Amino acid sequence: MKPLQDLVRPNIWALQPYSCARDEFQGEASVYLDANENPFNAPINRYPDPRQTNLKERLSVVKGIPVENICLGNGSDECIDLIYRIFCEPAQDNVVAIAPTYGMYRVCADINNVAYREVLLDSDFQLNATRLLGVCDAHTKVIWLCSPNNPTGNCLNHSTIQRVLREFDGIVVVDEAYGDFADQPLFRHELKQWPNLVVLNTFSKCWASAGIRLGMAFASKEIIELMHRVKYPYNINTLTQRQALDVLSEIQKIDLWRATLLRERMQMLPAIAELPICEKVYPTDANFFLAKMTDAKAIYQYLMKQGIIVRDRSRVQLCDNCLRITIGTPQENNTLLGALRRFR
Ligand SMILES: *Cc1c(COP(=O)(O)O)cnc(C)c1O
Repeated sequence: MKPLQDLVRPNIWALQPYSCARDEFQGEASVYLDANENPFNAPINRYPDPRQTNLKERLSVVKGIPVENICLGNGSDECIDLIYRIFCEPAQDNVVAIAPTYGMYRVCADINNVAYREVLLDSDFQLNATRLLGVCDAHTKVIWLCSPNNPTGNCLNHSTIQRVLREFDGIVVVDEAYGDFADQPLFRHELKQWPNLVVLNTFSKCWASAGIRLGMAFASKEIIELMHRVKYPYNINTLTQRQALDVLSEIQKIDLWRATLLRERMQMLPAIAELPICEKVYPTDANFFLAKMTDAKAIYQYLMKQGIIVRDRSRVQLCDNCLRITIGTPQENNTLLGALRRFR
């Protein structure tokens, strides 16, 4: 890895961060007259903790990651944007990503005016490290990897990702939004090994809390410190912090939901695969799967008329005629299967 200073935009490296009232005074007091808050309407009259210390201490235990290696964002989407704003000089630097993958990496590149280079996955949706590294140049700051990948559902080969981490001298992001549904070793447990690694996690999928908008980045203390300097001071609101603590206090419930979804996934894959209108179901490590159909567009329209919405991915590279289908409740999955069996 290059020295961190060589990877960070000079204006960000030199940034004097905004110092908010809650940064200047940390601790317990009886009278707070420092932040121009309204004294009425407790508890939401107060600004939230800008460092989310209570929440991070709980997360640290659940995820097995020290507090100093955690940054929280308004969804992982905020973390993605922060990475561009920290590392990528607009109109000068570039990033390299796999394709197909999660759409936000490109949208954030476009918003930040950063060139986005794609390297197509193999026909089995695996990563070719030689081709990926071959596309990088002196202005490549970040490589985006997603495992399990969206929309393909599969994990990228672990040792191939390790090779990218070893041989690329910039930042490598591994988005593990669906990691809890996979039975593969997770990259967040390899943070100590790779100073250039950023792992993304989210409350939106396995933790069933997409509505509170809470994502996580795990990285070296130095990278996390930069993210804290650049993010809005109060990016995680009081209600979200409180609800996240509630979710973490009932983690057994999440484990039961996950077990149900994994069981349903195991039953859905062969059931869909044997439909005459299905050509292939791709293997998945996530709470969704990709299915190649005889006529994805017609089937999508048909399902929509029945009030069943899946994702038509047929215009995505390597996903000709593919639908992306999320695993729902047993009842929802049966409704989908019934409708597909009646399709003519
Ligand atoms: C759903 C998803 C996320 C989650 O984003 P949030 O902003 O945390 O809701 C992140 N990465 C991938 C690949 C996803 O599919």
